[in-house]
Amino acid sequence: MAHVTKISRPSASRKTVRTDALLRIDIAALRARLTAARLPDLATRQADRARRLLLAWIGSAEADGQTAETILRALASGAAAAQIGAALRAQMAENPPPVVRDAACAPGCAFCCILTGEDGGTITGAEARALHAALAPLIGQPDGRAWHPMACPALDPATRTCRAYDARPAICRSYLSTDARACEVNAAGGSAAGAGVLGAHLDYLAVHALVRAALAGTVKVHSYALREVAAAALAGLDAKATLDSARHPTRMLDRAHAGLAAAASKAR
Ligand code: SF4
Ligand code: SF4
Repeated sequence: MAHVTKISRPSASRKTVRTDALLRIDIAALRARLTAARLPDLATRQADRARRLLLAWIGSAEADGQTAETILRALASGAAAAQIGAALRAQMAENPPPVVRDAACAPGCAFCCILTGEDGGTITGAEARALHAALAPLIGQPDGRAWHPMACPALDPATRTCRAYDARPAICRSYLSTDARACEVNAAGGSAAGAGVLGAHLDYLAVHALVRAALAGTVKVHSYALREVAAAALAGLDAKATLDSARHPTRMLDRAHAGLAAAASKAR
C-alpha cells in the first residue's frame, strides 16, 4: 500500500475566504493571470500550448453562456483540464494514428491497471470526486488487489474490468498499447516498448498546472493520487475524507508533467 498523505482540514471560515478570493476574479483578470502564469518545469512551447488550450476553452465556455463563477470552479476543480483532454482525444479518434488504430486493448486485459508508479497516477479533484461516487456503493466487495497486490482497487478481480469505467480518470483513458505482452512485462518492472500515454495527457497535466499557477493566492488547485482515492473510497471514507487522504503534495503535479514531457521528448 502506498503511503497516505495526511492533510489537515481547513476550517470553515478559511474555506469561505478562499472561495471569495476566487470569485473576486473576473474573466478579464483570469485571462491576464493565465497569460502571465509560468511553468518553470515545462518547455515554453508546451506551456504556451496549454495556455492557448485554456484560453480557447474559456472563450467557448463564455460563448455557451457559462458564468464567471462556473468557469472558475471548473478550472479550479480540474473539470476544465479533463474536458480539454477529452476533446483532444476525441479529435485524435477522428483520424487515429497507428498507435491508436493498432491498440491491443480489450476488456479483461488489465496489466495497465497494475499501478506500479508511486501513487498510481495523478488525477484532478473533479476526477477524484467522480471516482469516489462510482466506488462508494461497492464497499465490502472484493477489489483488484485480490488479483494482484498492486492492482487498482477499482478493478474487478474476477473479470479484470474497471468497476468505475464511466468515471475513470484521464490517465486511464489515455494509456494504451499495441502489445499486451509489453504491458505485462512493464507491470512486472520491465521497460518494454509499445505502451504509453497519448500526448493529450501531457496537455491535460500542463493545463491543470497552469491553472494552479494562474489562480495562486486565490484558491488552492490540487491534484490527487488515483490509487489512494480508489482505496479510500472502497474503505468507506466519505468524499471529503477520501480527498484529504489522497491529496498530493504540490510538487507531484509538476513532477508528473515534467516527467511525462521528458519521456515524450526522449521518445521522439
Ligand atoms: S494498455 Fe495494455 S494492459 Fe491495458 S488494455 Fe491495453 S493492451 Fe491491455
Ligand atoms: S480506475 Fe479503472 S481503468 Fe483506471 S486503473 Fe483503476 S481499474 Fe484501471
